[in-house]
Amino acid sequence: MSFRDDGAEALEWAASYLERVRELPVLAQVEPGEIRRALPESPPEAGEPFSAVLRDLDEVLLPGITHWQHPGFFAYFATTGSEPGILAELLAATLNVTQILWRASPAATELELVTMDWLAQLLGLPREWHGHIEDTASTSTLAALAAARQAFPGRVVLCSEQAHSSVEKAARLLGLAVQKIPADHEFRMRTEDLHDLEGACALVATVGTTSSTSVDPVAELAEICEREHVWLHVDAAYAGSAMVCPEFRWAWEGIERADSVVVNPHKWLFTPVDCSALWTRRPDDLHAAMTLVPEYLRTGDEDALNLSEYGPALGRRFRALKLWAVLRCYGREGLQERIREAVRLAELFEGWVREAPGWEVVAPRPFSVVCFRREGSDEENADLLERVNASGEAFLSHTALDGRYVLRLAIGNARTTEEDVRRAWDVLRREAR
Ligand SMILES: *Cc1c(COP(=O)(O)O)cnc(C)c1O
Repeated sequence: MSFRDDGAEALEWAASYLERVRELPVLAQVEPGEIRRALPESPPEAGEPFSAVLRDLDEVLLPGITHWQHPGFFAYFATTGSEPGILAELLAATLNVTQILWRASPAATELELVTMDWLAQLLGLPREWHGHIEDTASTSTLAALAAARQAFPGRVVLCSEQAHSSVEKAARLLGLAVQKIPADHEFRMRTEDLHDLEGACALVATVGTTSSTSVDPVAELAEICEREHVWLHVDAAYAGSAMVCPEFRWAWEGIERADSVVVNPHKWLFTPVDCSALWTRRPDDLHAAMTLVPEYLRTGDEDALNLSEYGPALGRRFRALKLWAVLRCYGREGLQERIREAVRLAELFEGWVREAPGWEVVAPRPFSVVCFRREGSDEENADLLERVNASGEAFLSHTALDGRYVLRLAIGNARTTEEDVRRAWDVLRREAR
C-alpha cells in the first residue's frame, strides 16, 4: 500500500471515529494492565503494513481509550480536538520541522509570532507583549517563574490555596519556596493578608481555578505586585479562552499590568493537545533566564528571533500551524459562538441542579463548570460518581471544596449539545435513586 492509500484509510478512520464516538463508553472500562497484556511483548522482526496498526487501534487499543472527543465527556476540563486542528497536526508531522532556531524554519517562527499576535487581539491582551507557544501550562508557568526569579531577588512564590499544582511543581524545580494564601468563601485568593511580600519574587493569580473556576482579583493583585516589586503571573489555562468574548473580560480586568499570562488553547480553544500560549511584557527577563546558545547553534542572523531562547525546550514542534488553522477556520465569531454555547449549557445544568430537591450547587459558576453534590455523605457522592462513570454514558470528575467531596460537570467539547447535558443529568438522577 502506498502512503496515499494508507493515508486515505487513516483519514477515513478519523472521520468515522468522530461520527461514532458518541456511541462508545466515554470512560475506558478496563482494568490496569489489561491493554498491556493484549499487546505483543516484542517488536516485529519484519516491517508490517500500516493497516495492521489501524486494525490494532480498533481491536486492542480502542477499549482502553477514554474518549475525550465524546460529547458526554464532562470530567476535568472538557476539550476539543477540532477538525482543522487534527488536519494541521497531520501537516505539521509531514513537515517535521524542529524549530531550534529561526533559520531551522523561518516560517515556523514567524507564523508563531503572528498567530500569538492574533490570539492576543482575540483575547484583548496588549499586542506589544512577547508571546510564544509551549507544550503545557506546566511548562509555561515554569518559564514564567524562572523569569520572575531572574527579575527579582526574592525566593518565594505566592499563590492561593486553590492554585494548580503546576505552580508548586515549577517552584520546586526552580528551588523556590511556595507560600499558599487562604481563599475566601468563593474560593478567591484573600488579599487582606498580603501587605508584606518580603522575600517573594512572584505571585501567581488564577483566573479560572481548576477545582471551581474561581477568579482571583487580578487588578488588586497587580497593584500590590507593582508596589512590592513582585512578578505577577496569571494562570488562565482554562478560562483565558473565554476572553474571546468581551463579556467575560471582567474576570481578568487589570491583565495589562500582569508580567506574564498563560492560556491553554488545548483546553477550551478547540486546538488538539498540546498547545499552551505564554505571553510576557518582560521578554528580556524571560530571555535572560532561558538563553543558552551552544557554539553549533550560533548563526549570524542577528535580526532573527530564536524562540528556543525563551523557553526550556530547544527542539520545538510546529504547534503554531494547528492554532493558526483553528483561528482561521473558526474565526472570532465561531470561537465566540462555541464558548457562549458551553456557558449557556452549564448555566442550564446549574439551574436544573438548583431546582432539584436533594441536590445542591456548591460554588459560583463564572464559566462552564458546575460544582455540585447530592445530599448525603462524601462516600455516597463518590459512589454515585463511580456508578455514573461506569454507565459509560457520561464521564464526570470530582474535587474537594470546603473539605467536602464535590462533583464537577465541565462543558467544553464542541460536540456537546443540550441533549447530551440533559442525558448526563438523567443518568445522575437515575443512579442517585
Ligand atoms: C489545566 C491547568 C493547568 C495545567 O495545565 P497543563 O497544560 O496540563 O500543564 C494549570 N493551571 C490551571 C488553572 C489549569 O486548569
